Amino acid sequence: MTACFALSPDRPPFGFASRVDALAALLDRAARQQPCVLASSLSVEDNVLMHAISVAALPIEVVAIDTLKLPQTTHAVAAEMERATGRTIRWLRPEVTALIAHAGSHRFEAIYHSRAARERCCTVRKVDVLAAELAGKAAWVTGLRRAHSEGRETIETEHWDTRFALRKFNPLAAWSDEDVWWYTRVHGLPFNGLYERGYASIGCEPCTRAIRPGEPLRAGRWWWEQNGQQGGECGLHLAPPPASESVEVVV
Ligand code: SF4
Repeated sequence: MTACFALSPDRPPFGFASRVDALAALLDRAARQQPCVLASSLSVEDNVLMHAISVAALPIEVVAIDTLKLPQTTHAVAAEMERATGRTIRWLRPEVTALIAHAGSHRFEAIYHSRAARERCCTVRKVDVLAAELAGKAAWVTGLRRAHSEGRETIETEHWDTRFALRKFNPLAAWSDEDVWWYTRVHGLPFNGLYERGYASIGCEPCTRAIRPGEPLRAGRWWWEQNGQQGGECGLHLAPPPASESVEVVV
């Protein structure tokens, strides 16, 4: 697979209009379940969602987790997206006491030597922060796509999130790299400059690298744990549910 930025198309991908219609229908459906939030990582996918939400003036708040380890380019694109959409991003940050406790038990560099230490860092800086935010919410929206990795190949556009106990919408589940980049281009959306440097999936700075030609899109995430294969997960997204629990919206 080639880095998605390099695939930026010069014409609409086949079926693009119908996928945009389906996106609008799914976001409208999500917005009917209140309170509902978009959890943005400022990825190119999440920027598509933030733009579509703002165009439709939907009551879906945009939140983002500042792990305190994000690249400067992520903060820069966040400010650009706020200007482009007129929407405010509400930043969520880890508990200081949890950070201090974690720092007291592990040097930060332990994430490169111990999967448990890495997962604990993700728990403190991301998962616990998101769990606190989603408590009491009716639904959340994410930019997950089936094309991201083998582990995401079966995600549904809507399902019950058993981990956080609310409905989860993945309106871009069926979107291709070309769809996302075509939408970004035609709407003139800002995007993280790291995409132009070979990054295909962007998280915390110490845990993200550019991918090489032929590598999967998420191979640059926690690469030292992956043997150059599919790329891992930080714990925000569990495996998809059985099909019987899912609702697929087709427009
Ligand atoms: S991605 Fe890396 S720096 Fe960010 S929370 Fe996880 S282990 Fe920590």
